[in-house]
Amino acid sequence: MSQQIRNGLIDYLEIMQISGVAELGAPVKRAALDVEPVSEEVETILEEPEKPEESEEPEKEERTTEIIQEITSVEIAPVEITPVEIISEEKTETATEEIVKEVTAKEITEEIMSDSPVHSDKTERLRLLARKVAQCSRCSELASTRTQTVFGVGNPDTQLVFLGEAPGADEDKQGEPFVGRAGKLLNDIITKGMKIRREDVYICNILRCRPPGNRNPSTDEAEHCRTFLDQTLDIIKPTFICCLGSVAAQNLLQTEKTIGSMRGKIFDYNGIKVICTYHPAYLLRNPSAKKQTWDDIKLLMNEMGLPISNEK
Ligand code: SF4
Repeated sequence: MSQQIRNGLIDYLEIMQISGVAELGAPVKRAALDVEPVSEEVETILEEPEKPEESEEPEKEERTTEIIQEITSVEIAPVEITPVEIISEEKTETATEEIVKEVTAKEITEEIMSDSPVHSDKTERLRLLARKVAQCSRCSELASTRTQTVFGVGNPDTQLVFLGEAPGADEDKQGEPFVGRAGKLLNDIITKGMKIRREDVYICNILRCRPPGNRNPSTDEAEHCRTFLDQTLDIIKPTFICCLGSVAAQNLLQTEKTIGSMRGKIFDYNGIKVICTYHPAYLLRNPSAKKQTWDDIKLLMNEMGLPISNEK
């Protein structure tokens, strides 16, 4: 009981005593006076209404709000994006093509030079070499102006190879050596003079691409194409080569001698007998030189053991 209540009770009983009800109020007053005052702590508990426990929720909400504020107030440093090179499809395709070309060329060379029975067939090896030549761009000017490469044609098992200088306009169009007027004259020399078929010999040139304007091959161009000539000869393994014209003779034999001085003689090229004569195109311009050419062909036929007839 609080002191305040107790005092109030005493006051009340005194009033009652005054008002004539003392007999009734005296014991109550006494009891009231005898009551031990309660401790302050208990008093506080009794008197002060318990404060409702504050919910933790607001505190939580407050903290949550703080966290959100913290998060939202964090300054995000701008991310530095390193520019990545964008490779265009065209560039990728070009690169891929280059790789494919390189691999293909390497594979072809290995196949051509392989001695395995699978690649022992001369025709197949020449076909593979022709494929490699078709991709060649060693002579940038020729590669960019040619219609196509002109490899070679004929019998890969022949003992005789005719060697010219380079494809002309007709050859560039048709992809075969000696197909124009000069080609027809060569056919006559082979069929009418030597009495053999064009298909029985092999025909190719120093260059496999046409020089623009039918100019002579440069030293570099002849050197670039030399590998293909040597590989062709290595596959065919002929016994004889007939050089047609000075360009063919000079390039094959690596000499600066004139065709006139080389005629009528037999040279050697890696074990192959070489005979030189005029180019059929020269004979078309200088028909009187046909007699000397016939003499050269007879020398060749004699070496080959072919019967010589005076009809030509
Ligand atoms: S001439 Fe011979 S080396 Fe030159 S680009 Fe043609 S194939 Fe290649």
